[in-house]
Amino acid sequence: MKSYDAVVIGGGPAGMTAALYLLRAGVKTAMIEKLAPGGQVLMTSEIENYPGFPGGLQGWELADKFAAHLDEHPLERITDEVSSIELGTSIHTIHVGGEKVQARVIILATGSRYRKLGIPGEERLLGKGVSYCALCDGNFFRDRDVAVIGGGNSALEEALYLARLVNKVYLIHRRDEFRGLICYQDKCFNNEKIEVIRNTVVDEIVGVNGVESVSLRDVSTDATSELKVDGAFIFVGFEPILDFVPEVVEKDANGIITDVEMRTNVAGIFAAGDIRSKMCRQVASAVGDGATAANAAFTYLEQLGI
Ligand SMILES: Cc1cc2nc3c(=O)[nH]c(=O)nc-3n(C[C@H](O)[C@H](O)[C@H](O)COP(=O)(O)OP(=O)(O)OC[C@H]3O[C@@H](n4cnc5c(N)ncnc54)[C@H](O)[C@@H]3O)c2cc1C
Repeated sequence: MKSYDAVVIGGGPAGMTAALYLLRAGVKTAMIEKLAPGGQVLMTSEIENYPGFPGGLQGWELADKFAAHLDEHPLERITDEVSSIELGTSIHTIHVGGEKVQARVIILATGSRYRKLGIPGEERLLGKGVSYCALCDGNFFRDRDVAVIGGGNSALEEALYLARLVNKVYLIHRRDEFRGLICYQDKCFNNEKIEVIRNTVVDEIVGVNGVESVSLRDVSTDATSELKVDGAFIFVGFEPILDFVPEVVEKDANGIITDVEMRTNVAGIFAAGDIRSKMCRQVASAVGDGATAANAAFTYLEQLGI
């Protein structure tokens, strides 16, 4: 069985930063990522708020830069999915793709996944007009009409991205006020291809072999209507990916609870990025968490005399 001083689970901004800091500190490190490194950044069209890149850059460009930086160091990469962790007293065992890997410290950085609306038609029409990723699927809707459902930054950013491709974007939000940043709101409200529908929920996504319409309900009047669209893009938040995390690691409804050094309640287990219970889910904060977790993990290993 392969054994490492540190294993980072998740190769998004938090995991890649943690791995970089650990490697630069001379720690024998492996990073386990089930897909290509980059995490949600690979699902993001443009990142305008990561410092050091005035004018912004494409998500894939930033992911490539993170990965290239990591390639300068002797990182062991394992490309597979972690299914569970067995906690030991000083060495923990990670189950990954039918194999076992041992680690003295583990940094949990598996981020978050999109939240579903849980309405009729959503599951059935997934991949047939229902999508959670404008960057991945936007191209299929060139010159057609789509609904974007949500009111946070992701919904606004993705509505703007889709407006470049499609004929019309209906931006549907259940509240009067949007949660997303004012700069994104201004861009959306001033975009002639985006029509904002407020105080409205989607009760059903309708279609036989593909999305044909969405059933709307005005939450202030209860009036219902049908809106013809070819696609429905859902951006209603994210939930942390915790399936493989042992019960004993303390969590709340928003994710893993850590102290300011990213230590969990279990010795040797750290958490960084969107998997944590926190307010700010951004690349910059994930990177900060990753650096902090690696530093705390390094101190912990030193205390063990490694
Ligand atoms: C559409 C969209 C737009 C966004 N726009 C911006 C923006 O403009 N600016 C900004 O700062 N932030 C933006 N964000 C948020 C930002 O991308 C995230 O906050 C950030 O990527 C979180 O980093 P992370 O490393 O914690 O997790 P993630 O990026 O989610 O990475 C986690 C990684 O873990 C892997 N993983 C999950 N489970 C397992 C497992 N069991 N085994 C192995 N690997 C696993 C995943 O494949 C993934 O690569 C956006 C997000 C989305 C979805």
